[in-house]
Amino acid sequence: MVFPEKCCGCEQQAAIEKYCFCSNCLNHITAAPSVYGRIFSLAIYEGPVMKAIHAYKYEKKKWIAHSFATWMHDFLIQHPEIQFDIIVPVPLHPIKEFRRSFNQSWLMAFYLGKMQGKPAVYHALVKIRNNRSQTNLDSDERKENVAGVYKVSRISIIKDKNILLIDDVYTTGATIEEVYKTLRRNGARQVKILTVAKA
Ligand SMILES: [Zn+2]
Repeated sequence: MVFPEKCCGCEQQAAIEKYCFCSNCLNHITAAPSVYGRIFSLAIYEGPVMKAIHAYKYEKKKWIAHSFATWMHDFLIQHPEIQFDIIVPVPLHPIKEFRRSFNQSWLMAFYLGKMQGKPAVYHALVKIRNNRSQTNLDSDERKENVAGVYKVSRISIIKDKNILLIDDVYTTGATIEEVYKTLRRNGARQVKILTVAKA
C-alpha cells in the first residue's frame, strides 16, 4: 500500500492518525445512527468525510478505498450483529463505470472482503438502465427513477444468502431500497447495508 502524504479530509500535510485522516479531522467526524436496524453508516456525510468521498470518487484517489474498507472492517468488528455470507457492491451502469474508470463501491467491497475473509462479488447485481441522477428529484420521482434499474446477474449467487451491500453514501434511500428489494425478490435471505456516510 502506498501511503498518502496528505490527509484525505483537509488536504493538509498533517500526519495521518487513523484511516486516511489527521487527528484534527478525526475530531470532526460524527457517527451516524443506523436506519431500520439494517442500514449502517460509518459517519455523517459532512466535513472531512464529505471531502474524502469527493476526493475518492471524483479526483479518483483510489487509495482511499483501502482506508474506507479498513474503517468498515473495524466497524463490523464492533457490530457483531451484522452477519453476512457475501459482500455485494451497489453497481453502476456500465457507461457510468467506464466514464469514472472504476466503481467506488466495488473497490471498497473488494478490500473489505479480503479483510473479512468473505467473498466480494463484483457483478452479483447489474444496473440495466442508465437512469438520470437522483439530484434535484423529489422523493416520489427518485423512487420512480430507480424502479426496475437493477437486476440480479445469477440468482444462485445470492439465493438464501445473507448479504452485506456496500455503497459510498446513503442519501434518501431510494437507490438502496430498490437494490434491497431486487435482492430480496430474488431470494436473498437477509440484506444489511453498510455505507461510508449518511447524508
Ligand atoms: Zn485532516
